[in-house]
Amino acid sequence: MTEIFYQEMSLLENLSNIHKRICHAAMRAGRDPSEVKLLAVTKTISPDIIKEAIELGVRLIGENRVQEAREKIEFLRGQIPDTVQWHMIGHLQKNKVRAAVGLFDMIQSVDSPELARRIDRVASEMGKIQPVLVQVKLSEEVTKHGVETDRVFDLLEEIRGLKNLELQGLMTIPPFFEDPEKARPYFRGLREIKEEAEVRGFSLPELSMGMTGDFEVAIEEGSTMVRIGTAIFGRRHYR
Ligand SMILES: *Cc1c(COP(=O)(O)O)cnc(C)c1O
Repeated sequence: MTEIFYQEMSLLENLSNIHKRICHAAMRAGRDPSEVKLLAVTKTISPDIIKEAIELGVRLIGENRVQEAREKIEFLRGQIPDTVQWHMIGHLQKNKVRAAVGLFDMIQSVDSPELARRIDRVASEMGKIQPVLVQVKLSEEVTKHGVETDRVFDLLEEIRGLKNLELQGLMTIPPFFEDPEKARPYFRGLREIKEEAEVRGFSLPELSMGMTGDFEVAIEEGSTMVRIGTAIFGRRHYR
């Protein structure tokens, strides 16, 4: 029902609805709506549609596969403003690190010291400072990537020592629930880790949390970046 609803609406309507909902959720929580950025998740979405979204003001794009992102970035080169940023939001395999560092403005899925060191080494070779988020695994689901909560601080310490990584915050993907309220403890959990980390001297301004089904709850719990696909582009069609 909801999916069909989103598909039938236009991109412009979808985006303005989402901005409105972001605004309301922020205000409910006593927050300034401008603290919450919208990352449009474009996996499976064609470059033409992505370009349309960019023309409507979208500036942050999230992709979860390096190869798919590469094709779109190359296709759109020269056709979109320089201010558009591409974020890697999927699990990053070690053998894709070089490509990822070459392509992405931010890698949101750093979840191990090995991956962090590899990104740092490649970034150093390319003369780049790579902005990253640490992906935290707050649920027991075996399929989800992310660093376990009892290892987060060790990973943050590790990253602190890596000169070519710029740690900007944390990201999480809670399990899917029909009722978004059930995701609240996970969002709160991520915020608590951020607060604890800040006590320990880390600066972690970004909290990337909240998707189509639960972004308003995530904003109430402190999200600074919601990652939204379906509510903007409609239901994804996998080939
Ligand atoms: C696909 C995806 C999203 C967006 O999901 P929707 O429910 O379509 O909004 C957000 N974050 C990650 C990591 C994703 O893979």
